[in-house]
Amino acid sequence: MTNTAPTTVTSTTVACDGDQQEGGHPRVYLTIDPETRKAVCPYCSKVFVLDPNAKVAAH
Ligand SMILES: [Zn+2]
Repeated sequence: MTNTAPTTVTSTTVACDGDQQEGGHPRVYLTIDPETRKAVCPYCSKVFVLDPNAKVAAH
């Protein structure tokens, strides 16, 4: 599978339940790393990138 394109998100918390074409996986919630502004799903290795315009909560 060549699903390497990162998914842009506008929230620091994202839910991933995999790709239906690949069968998916249990839904997990990932938190965007505030330093790298990315999160990687441990199940399907999908990469989530925080939208550059998204506000990051500072608390
Ligand atoms: Zn996933």
